[in-house]
Amino acid sequence: ENKDQKFVYDFTEGNKDLKDLLGGKGANLAEMTNLGLPVPPGFTITTEACKVYLESGDEPAELRDEVSAHLDALEQKMGKKLGQADNPLLVSVRSGAKFSMPGMMDTVLNIGLSDESVAGLAQQAGDERFAWDSYRRLIQMFGKTVLGVDGELFEDALEEAKAAKKVTVDTDLDAADLKKLVKQFKKIVKTEAGRDFPQDPREQMDLAICSVFESWNTDRAKLYRRQERIPGDLGTAVNICSMVFGNLGPDSGTGVAFTRDPASGHQGVYGDYLQNAQGEDVVAGIRNTVPLADLESIDKKSYDQLMQIMETLENHYKDLCDIEFTIERGQLWMLQTRVGKRTAGAAFRIATQLVDQGLIDEAEALQRVNGAQLAQLMFPRFDDRAKTELLGRGIAASPGAAVGKAVFDSYTAVKWSRSGEKVILIRRETNPDDLDGMIAAEGILTSRGGKTSHAAVVARGMGKTCVCGAEELEVDTKRRRMTVNGTVIEEGDLVSVDGSTGKVYKGEVPVVPSPVVEYFEGRMHAGADDADELVQAVHRIMAYADRVRRLRVRANADNAEDALRARRFGAQGIGLCRTEHMFLGERREMVEKLILADTDDEREEALRALLPQQKQDFVELFEAMDGLPVTVRLLDPPLHEFLPDITELSVRVALAEARKDHNENDLRLLQAVHRLHEQNPMLGLRGVRLGLVIPGLFTMQVRAIAEAAAQRIEAKGDPRAEIMIPLVGTVQELEIVREEAEQVIAEVRQQTGIDLKLALGTMIELPRAALTAGQIAEAAEFFSFGTNDLTQTVWGFSRDDVEASFFTAYLEKGIFGVSPFETIDKDGVGSLVRNAVEAGRATRPDLKLGVCGEHGGDPESVHFFHEVGLDYVSCSPFRIPVARLEAGRAAA
Ligand code: PEP
Ligand code: MG
Repeated sequence: ENKDQKFVYDFTEGNKDLKDLLGGKGANLAEMTNLGLPVPPGFTITTEACKVYLESGDEPAELRDEVSAHLDALEQKMGKKLGQADNPLLVSVRSGAKFSMPGMMDTVLNIGLSDESVAGLAQQAGDERFAWDSYRRLIQMFGKTVLGVDGELFEDALEEAKAAKKVTVDTDLDAADLKKLVKQFKKIVKTEAGRDFPQDPREQMDLAICSVFESWNTDRAKLYRRQERIPGDLGTAVNICSMVFGNLGPDSGTGVAFTRDPASGHQGVYGDYLQNAQGEDVVAGIRNTVPLADLESIDKKSYDQLMQIMETLENHYKDLCDIEFTIERGQLWMLQTRVGKRTAGAAFRIATQLVDQGLIDEAEALQRVNGAQLAQLMFPRFDDRAKTELLGRGIAASPGAAVGKAVFDSYTAVKWSRSGEKVILIRRETNPDDLDGMIAAEGILTSRGGKTSHAAVVARGMGKTCVCGAEELEVDTKRRRMTVNGTVIEEGDLVSVDGSTGKVYKGEVPVVPSPVVEYFEGRMHAGADDADELVQAVHRIMAYADRVRRLRVRANADNAEDALRARRFGAQGIGLCRTEHMFLGERREMVEKLILADTDDEREEALRALLPQQKQDFVELFEAMDGLPVTVRLLDPPLHEFLPDITELSVRVALAEARKDHNENDLRLLQAVHRLHEQNPMLGLRGVRLGLVIPGLFTMQVRAIAEAAAQRIEAKGDPRAEIMIPLVGTVQELEIVREEAEQVIAEVRQQTGIDLKLALGTMIELPRAALTAGQIAEAAEFFSFGTNDLTQTVWGFSRDDVEASFFTAYLEKGIFGVSPFETIDKDGVGSLVRNAVEAGRATRPDLKLGVCGEHGGDPESVHFFHEVGLDYVSCSPFRIPVARLEAGRAAA
């Protein structure tokens, strides 16, 4: 261990960049102190001390001495001693981690009060009632948080005291009442904690410090960290700050303020003030606060000073700050500041406003927003102007605005949605059996469970609106109804669910499209009169991102409509066209014929029928993406996916047999289904393996691509087709397919007289492919990482099952903070990607590299792909703006 390690920093020693060590609160208190702002003097114990304490169960040896030295200095500065009988120094002991964890950890105020010093405080303040009230608060807070006494016991005693006096508010208790209450509180401590409330002020302080350390590891703090993805090993700092009082009369008070509106970003006076009160009273909502602007008439001098300080802070932090302050008898004190939370829309507006004010540059503006915020702005939302009837509120688990008829079981959800009804699936909680219902529903609403509950995880995975843990809802699935605060919602009643705010409304709330999507769709121009400030801000930020990003962004799209939307959203090509989607619907019959073919002739005939259809698909796609690359992947899924369900078909055949009504085709189908049945179809006959064992299948597709490209060239178009082979595990597979493909392309060249150029490459989606990427690159002009299958095969997780089965448990246990199917597992899957990139480029320096798994549109994963040097990411059309933004942020 480091001998010179310092565990305590005076507020004058730290700065805002030391958040790791001093926590957010401590670092910012130090920063404000150094800016010359009025911060009550104090010092901060580092997160390092907390880590030592949590590891060894004891304070580091040097800590007490360091605290003593700093306390001495503080006492000197303040001209009084901690707990001194006639003129006590009082301090607060507050937690403060690197990342804000509101209300999760401990804080104790008024440390230093005792049976002796309470009189000193009374004299100092000239207010006996105030002194006894402060003492009573100390015993209550200390008893509850440090000594673990049930807080209700104190609350009950307080209520009894008020009842006995027939008053309703705390302030109606006088000094004598509070003195009695203190006696009672001390008795509660003695009985419940088995010890006296400590009279030694230093003992109070040391116990409070340890209690703050320990509060890092309470269950609720752990749960919060897991949900917010805050690492569990950071520890908390402890801030010891001399007390100032906002409850010393009408010339005192406490408040919160923002340097600009956290909802709109507009500059102005935003905040609340409460006269004659302490911070806790504001949070507890004991009395109504007044708008901050009213402070001007209450205390002009403090108000003016506060405005000045807010300007200083904003210019210094170059960002929106939020502030907690206290006024003690006309003297303003700053208790906290930090860069403030804001809505997604405000984040974009503030970033551009600060650029215009010359406070930050464009690169910095990109860091002030993120893809998750942009995604949030792209969801349709409920019309703010609509009249609504709020039923209740839960956790905003998956954003969006969903309206539909209430249903209370998955069976009904599926049945109703099949007949064209929009439904909201309402359950107490969901489980894997509800999956069909969740897919069928517009939105999902549960009364139990948090952000990592089954409903929340699965809904987010599906991009479906979800509110979970709405505890006021009494869901009665048997009687198919729910009761919320007296209102009964029966099956079939309309409800509206806002997955961005967690609010649930009765009836149908009108939904308005997102103006940001209207803008991306080209239906609104940033320069137009009706374009709001938000659209202009998004427009500007996207322009910065596009200017600096190195990664290109392509779309996963299989038809012209999606391709055109993707183009409007800024796609620079198609990174994955899944051709299997072209074999569904009415073409399923042709595919059946292909599968059932007994002879070469039958098979060739089936392929001949498919060829013109495929060709037309590609012509449309190449036209939509004219001038930009289009990667077409040859058929990937196991063939049984194109055949009827085995159970359904068996029943049909059995019933027909019983009626002695033989259907030859069904019988042949059933045989084929049995023949193709696999225990592990995802590891079976699919991808390149199909191309190798079904003669003519891949060559038909290659011919369709080549002929379509030739047709587009004849029409003066500019097709840039690339042919991609899925599920390759070894270079030999690729070599065989490549040879056949080249032959077909040569034939088409000859037939059409057009000099076609078609790149041929492969997906890297099996561990073996990644491990032998150097060899595979010899036969591939490009790689596209299929991180869906790669994640599935690297972890051995079935991508179709695990998220609905055991991922909830894994997330709850903190095994990972987010599904590896959502955000790339950098250490495992990512390290294979990194190695394959290096090995591939070593073989073929101009190898083109992309990714087309779901991770291509995930913000964190985009940063990773930038870092490992891919050329592009490919994602679904709606995520393209997010990928562009994150690619810009990664490069800026
Ligand atoms: C992949 O595996 O990542 C991929 C893009 O292919 P698919 O999702 O179609 O299996
Ligand atoms: Mg795949």
